Amino acid sequence: MVTATFRFYDQLGAFLPRERRGREFSTPCAREATAKHMIEALGVPHTEVDLVLVNGESQGFEHALSEGDRVAVYPSFGQLDIHALQRLRSQIPGRPRFVADAHLGGLARLLRMAGYDTLYDNGYHDDEIERIAREEARVLLSRDRELLKRRSVEHGCYLHALDPAQQLRELFARLRLGGAMRPFSLCLHCNLPLRQVEKAEVLDRLPPRVAETHTEFTTCDHCGRVYWKGSHHARMCALLADVELPPSPDSQP
Ligand SMILES: [Zn+2]
Repeated sequence: MVTATFRFYDQLGAFLPRERRGREFSTPCAREATAKHMIEALGVPHTEVDLVLVNGESQGFEHALSEGDRVAVYPSFGQLDIHALQRLRSQIPGRPRFVADAHLGGLARLLRMAGYDTLYDNGYHDDEIERIAREEARVLLSRDRELLKRRSVEHGCYLHALDPAQQLRELFARLRLGGAMRPFSLCLHCNLPLRQVEKAEVLDRLPPRVAETHTEFTTCDHCGRVYWKGSHHARMCALLADVELPPSPDSQP
């Protein structure tokens, strides 16, 4: 048994009991325990950690802890450039795609609205979500720490907020998604690309009042739904413009 001292920075504190937040604390570690093992044993999923310093040196997750080590654990840095230090995982390749767990239907819908490919089904069980994330290189979205601690989960994101719009804001800030939005390009139900159509092609699927007052339409070739820029569209545009802004201090956990 060895004893090491830990400090978790910024929003990582939300995973700890109150008395361990924002300060150093010492804890016994099993012999040969790795940094990752202890970080997760203390309550923080590995997906939430971007950088570990042991005695001031950048180290990997598999670093074995020794007596008296001082371990500083940092979350995703967002804009800050830490390329000189050892990142703990590869960058997300290309445009991020997501798989959301069964409790995040509202967030999944908002991500689709912003044009981010997001798989979601409220019948998914944990093994299935883990498999999809691994096989399709998707970012796993969850409020279940144990799911995010699974070894095969490379890219994941714990959502601190309960409200879907706040969750979207968290995710946009963490992964810098704002600049690559493609609003209203995906079907909200099927997660598939929408196609522009002439009014004549969809006239029989439109409420008469919508047919009279709108000229631009898109449709999903999978489910046949038709989309137009109604009052709902305006509200959603306002929401998407708003989430591009950085989180306000009182929306932090
Ligand atoms: Zn559809």
